[in-house]
Amino acid sequence: MAMWNPWRGCHKHSEGCRYCYIHKGDLKRGIDTDKIVKTDSFYAPIAKNKSGEYKIKSGQTVYLCFSTDFLIEEADPWRAECWAMIRERSDLHFLFLTKRIERLTDCLPADWNDGYSNVTVGCTVENQDRADDRLVIFSKLPIKHKNIICQPLIGPIDLSAYLENVELVVVGGESDTNARPLDYAWVLAIREQCIARHVRFEFRQCGTHFIKDGQSYTLPTRDLCSQARKANINC
Ligand code: SF4
Repeated sequence: MAMWNPWRGCHKHSEGCRYCYIHKGDLKRGIDTDKIVKTDSFYAPIAKNKSGEYKIKSGQTVYLCFSTDFLIEEADPWRAECWAMIRERSDLHFLFLTKRIERLTDCLPADWNDGYSNVTVGCTVENQDRADDRLVIFSKLPIKHKNIICQPLIGPIDLSAYLENVELVVVGGESDTNARPLDYAWVLAIREQCIARHVRFEFRQCGTHFIKDGQSYTLPTRDLCSQARKANINC
């Protein structure tokens, strides 16, 4: 597994961004998150060592733009070079998530056709309204590997109409003192929708404010992922 952030910074885009951990972290360090800038890692996938070998070893998954959005407008002039590197490294698998799926068509390279085999696109949705906006678009796009990311989940979602050709659905709650609550019943309902359509499901993170069987709990940040694993409902 490798991380690749060719640029940094992002703008809040919808309800799910309210407690974005990138903005919170930057605020502590005095960095302006709304300023989008290229990073020193821009060429990381094709960087080589003294022996002429790629520093990122073959066969890995590369998590792309996990501290920004690959489809953000300011990066439009830079993205063609990224696609060229993704093409060159056909021995790696690239995964990016986006809340801006409506921009994908305008951001694709000319030879994308029905998708690159080494790219997974994750469409992030946080409630039913955003699911209905984004997944209608997502479901029609030519992408070889599709994931749906419901994190932070801030309301119940019925994904049933959007699961065709989706490989994985990830669900997670919000992490923040003021986080909006995650009701476990919403998680289980999405799991049932996935089971019915034979789509892989993963419960990745509880919410700071978690509701189970009508009872509210407040969980420490350090326990959010382990509590989700303990639920043992991935399938
Ligand atoms: S799109 Fe993602 S990275 Fe950008 S502000 Fe929203 S949550 Fe943060």
